[in-house]
Amino acid sequence: MKLLDKIQHQGRELTGRALDRHLRLGVTGLSGSGKTAFITSLVQQLTMGDQSANLPFFDVVQSQRYLGGRLAKPPLDVPRFPLEQNLQALQQSPPQWPASTQGWSQLSLTLRYKASTGLRAHLQSHSELALDIIDYPGEWLLDLPLLDMNYKQWCEFSWQLFSKPHRVDVAAHFNQQLAAISLDNATELQLQTLTDSYKALLQQFHQTPGAYLNQPGRLLVPGTLAGAPMLQLFPLLPHQVSADSALAKKLTQHYESYCAHVIKPFYQKHFSGLDRQVILVDCLSALNAGYAAMTELQQALQLILKSFHYGPASLLGRLFSPSIDKVLFAASKADHATPEQHKALTLLLQQFLQQPLKHSQYQAAKTEAMAIAAIRASSSGFVQSDGLPQPCISGTSLEQKAVTFFPGDVPAQLPTAQMFAQHQFAFIPLRPLPWQDCKPLPHVRMDHVLQYLLGDKLR
Ligand code: GDP
Repeated sequence: MKLLDKIQHQGRELTGRALDRHLRLGVTGLSGSGKTAFITSLVQQLTMGDQSANLPFFDVVQSQRYLGGRLAKPPLDVPRFPLEQNLQALQQSPPQWPASTQGWSQLSLTLRYKASTGLRAHLQSHSELALDIIDYPGEWLLDLPLLDMNYKQWCEFSWQLFSKPHRVDVAAHFNQQLAAISLDNATELQLQTLTDSYKALLQQFHQTPGAYLNQPGRLLVPGTLAGAPMLQLFPLLPHQVSADSALAKKLTQHYESYCAHVIKPFYQKHFSGLDRQVILVDCLSALNAGYAAMTELQQALQLILKSFHYGPASLLGRLFSPSIDKVLFAASKADHATPEQHKALTLLLQQFLQQPLKHSQYQAAKTEAMAIAAIRASSSGFVQSDGLPQPCISGTSLEQKAVTFFPGDVPAQLPTAQMFAQHQFAFIPLRPLPWQDCKPLPHVRMDHVLQYLLGDKLR
């Protein structure tokens, strides 16, 4: 973008935000939590024609004041969210899920509506809200706590994590590779080989059910930083850091430049610009993966929450003053459970977050928790079992088989290790339902989501 264009663009953006006519909505969550599906659905719901039957709890639509949404010109210096490809994937036969988030991307919309109150309602035939939707990996938020640790502490933290039952075998080979390295005479080539091994280990963890907490986030999802020298980073074995070796010194330097040149700028340049935030959490997959997975997801969420904990003494308070005023925690893929289980799923999400949100410590931002499905892949109903109606869901399995079943109860409390030993949760993945572009995308509670995130801005 030319400098003048850029200044004018930024000028418009600032005026819009000052007048409350411009909203930047961040969407995040760990890989596979459903960000791509969420944004695709959100945008489709906002740009479809008449949606009154599909969005009963979205006030502006219900009161027939919504005049429609259209894609706006995107900024040229930010990757664009691939909406069209995603919608195309859903229309294939058989329908496919769109490809998942790989970095930072954005889509801009202009929403047009009739104001119901205030000066605008009297003076203007319609009002507009500029909405930027920003997609970024939750793994990047897992990096924030690194600012509060030094390299040695990070190594200790990492190897403690890698000793957990669901990780220890996966990490064994990398452990051996490290143990064999000469700490004072490691060559540049060996450093790169170990970096590549650690990257491969992170990828393996990423495929390991329940291994959520993978740092540094940019090594796993580099975005535009692929190949940058400070990504030559991995945790030495704790006893190797204590010895004051050349390798430990070098990695300490890389760690410090990663903190200074990757983590801090991310918060100062990108995160600081967000007004509202959605955090998606796939609680049901964690239940499927067992006790260790559940506790690790809880731990990862605690670290993610640090990015929304804004006391003056908080990590972020020291970097900038965050401006996020609303956070929505959404338990995604609720269509994997029967509808009467959704309340339990919302309670479970709150347990994962380790606090009832209403009494949360995040007074700076309003928070809400919901169980949703951005793109509903099942239909729900009842089957007769022993003469009684039993809730069930129907859909198509990944193997292309039509299935009807009761996926089981969702516990409203985090199950204990003993309960996991006795019970295997099985909330199975499904293919998306067949869908045509002219139809609204089926969903669960996206209207509640829209009302919470945008309702007050479209009054
Ligand atoms: P991302 O990595 O956070 O972008 O996650 P995606 O949006 O790509 O979702 C990962 C996978 O979760 C998808 O490929 C689907 O299999 C599944 N998924 C996401 N959203 C939904 C949903 O609303 N319902 C169902 N049934 N599955 C979903």
